[in-house]
Amino acid sequence: MSNKWIEQQLDVLNEQGLYRSMLDIDSATGPRVRVDGQEKLAFCSNNYLGLAGHSDIVTVVQDGVAHWGFGAGASRLISGNQSPHGKLQQRLARWLGKQAALVFPTGYMTNLAILGALPGKDDLILLDKLVHASIVDGAKSSDATVRVFPHRQIDKIHRLLERGGFRQAYIVTESLFSMDGDSADLVELVELKKKYEACLIVDEAHALGCIGPGGKGCAAETGLLGDVDIVVGTFSKALGGAGGFVAADRSIVEILINKARPFIYTTGVPAVHCLAAETALNIIDREPQRREKLNENARILRNRLNEMELNTAASDSYIIPIVVGDAQTTVDLSVKLWEAGIMIPAIRPPTVAPGSSRLRISLMCEHTSADLDSLCDCLQKVSAANHLGQVK
Ligand code: PMP
Repeated sequence: MSNKWIEQQLDVLNEQGLYRSMLDIDSATGPRVRVDGQEKLAFCSNNYLGLAGHSDIVTVVQDGVAHWGFGAGASRLISGNQSPHGKLQQRLARWLGKQAALVFPTGYMTNLAILGALPGKDDLILLDKLVHASIVDGAKSSDATVRVFPHRQIDKIHRLLERGGFRQAYIVTESLFSMDGDSADLVELVELKKKYEACLIVDEAHALGCIGPGGKGCAAETGLLGDVDIVVGTFSKALGGAGGFVAADRSIVEILINKARPFIYTTGVPAVHCLAAETALNIIDREPQRREKLNENARILRNRLNEMELNTAASDSYIIPIVVGDAQTTVDLSVKLWEAGIMIPAIRPPTVAPGSSRLRISLMCEHTSADLDSLCDCLQKVSAANHLGQVK
């Protein structure tokens, strides 16, 4: 086999500033990480509440592995369903006031599973333009008609639904958007879904644990959790672990168990992941100060970046993009920040639209005000040198 065409593709990615590679991190994920013997101040982890290294979780995982072993050994439907799976599912359903929940090995697979299994040939899937790749890939795997509406433009969804000609519509959105840090208009979406008897699927991956009463997410914050038909969450962000879940009516969970290929044909998520997630929920319940500090950090930093006239898009959260535009310029800025001791990778197409490459800051509750000062100082220097300011 000749690899020539593969190498050509890599050359093209390089020329366009779109080549991706991985860094070896020599420490746990946190506000500070070690790379090549150097410490970097990191603003790029979804471990928003600092739970990935929390001592309660570490202990539960250590004890859990000793009891349950690590791998589940088979898919959940064969012999890989251990009691921590069911216990966590009950807890998640109770937490979000739904009839049932189902746990998957990743959040990515959760979205693939739902959209691959539920909507059929005569159905319509409506996606916000900025939803996560896992939602897009799930929709692509479905036989339903898929339409994308411009980000947060409710009137466009309205028009698509008005046309009719489908059996069941599914409206899919993130509650807190992962690359822009802004929020879906759940009030309007619920109104629409009621009018057209649509199924509303809300991916709360970035909100759970951090927003709303008890950290139950954006829908809970607006009092609309009961109107969301399917809640999607991950353990990989604020819960500091790995795995995903869906919470919904029992019949929806039953159909996923019976039809969703990413559930049926994969080995069960290790039981210790479930024990870790349950422990994370306990911490989220009893330590509201973590989400309060995170949101306070976010308010402070957004204000400061806005004073510096950096383009933070419509962020209203602890995910704060600085939209630069050109991919190579964004990479160059990221490198300059790195040299100054700050880690914020460049986010480029296809993760975001061409011309909207950005430095995406994600905050943690463990960032101190001195950390925010260091970040702003470095951004000030780098942006002045690159005429980054005044982009609004
Ligand atoms: N949904 C959203 C909105 C996400 O941002 C992500 C991860 N970035 C996922 C789902 C996938 O979650 P996981 O990392 O658990 O696969």
